Amino acid sequence: MTSQDSLQDLRSQIDVINMQLLELLSARARVVTEIGKVLTELGSEHYDPSREAQMLTALELANKGPFSNETIKALFREIFRASLALEESQAKAKIRVQRKSADERTIITLPDGVTKIGDGSFQIISGPCAVESYEQMDETAAALNARGVKILRGMAYKPRTSPYEFQGMGEEGLQIARQVANKYNMFITSEIMDKSQIDMMLDYVDIFWVGARNMQNSFLLRALGKINKPVILKRGLAATLEEFMYAAEYIVSSGNPNVILIERGIRTYEKSTRNTLDIGGVAVLKLESHLPVVVDISHSAGRRDIAMPLGRVAKASGADGLMVEVHPNPAVAMSDAKQQLYIPQFNELMDELDKYPIP
Ligand code: PEP
Ligand code: MN
Repeated sequence: MTSQDSLQDLRSQIDVINMQLLELLSARARVVTEIGKVLTELGSEHYDPSREAQMLTALELANKGPFSNETIKALFREIFRASLALEESQAKAKIRVQRKSADERTIITLPDGVTKIGDGSFQIISGPCAVESYEQMDETAAALNARGVKILRGMAYKPRTSPYEFQGMGEEGLQIARQVANKYNMFITSEIMDKSQIDMMLDYVDIFWVGARNMQNSFLLRALGKINKPVILKRGLAATLEEFMYAAEYIVSSGNPNVILIERGIRTYEKSTRNTLDIGGVAVLKLESHLPVVVDISHSAGRRDIAMPLGRVAKASGADGLMVEVHPNPAVAMSDAKQQLYIPQFNELMDELDKYPIP
């Protein structure tokens, strides 16, 4: 056999081995996909470093050369990396809140059959930070109603930073909110702190509200997935958009498709605002998800003097609405006194927003 013939023969052997390797890699990838499905069902992390270390040790022990252990480990690490990417991309493709086509959108219709969120309108969600009295709610609601606002904040449980600060009026606050909303034909949204409150709150609220601090309370999210009222979900204080969307997924995958996302600013090093409004995040959420997105111009700012520019930005961003806190006398408000708008300021904001079309 000439050298040329033997080279040809050796290369043919390599071609065959390549095909065998390809088949084995593909078979391995199919098993990995199955594992990925099980992990997703179990709600477990796809990346398991201890399992990876165990496989590398077994390969090292079995390796008889000619490749060094380091080379074998590097090659297999590459296979593990590709497998993990495959598992994750398959898990993501199945996410319900992910937009599957450009025109897919979730439209939420409120009990009057007319008020909608996510239909291309720009909804205003407003009211005081917290219910403090009947008079305070009545005065606020009258002003909001005069500007066509349909969704009223009726916050009765306040997740305050300090346990010594005003914690909300509790069920009495919900009773006031409901009474006032009925008077003006408005809808109540109110924050729920714990799943044990669902049954009681069902009597009072039209839209449940999960605050930033509870965004990753998966037990609460799952329980809200079982009710037939819409849920507002706020982005966590330091949550990535991926974590935010997964939180919404808990509700939607548990059976409730009517989720509204609120961007409320994230923690950054900047101190001049309470949080940093992530307007880029709003654009990404609108692109990646079919759920309605609302911009909170109050908690993202922590101050009322920039409500006007933030309101303009919110409307121009392509969001489905804006959330703003309004109080008849913010100076004496029991919470968030620095950011709640005076009623005349709210009216100026509405006048300003009326000048701009919905993009
Ligand atoms: C709120 O909007 O009432 C609130 C408490 O805000 P966050 O959960 O975003 O801090
Ligand atoms: Mn507030």
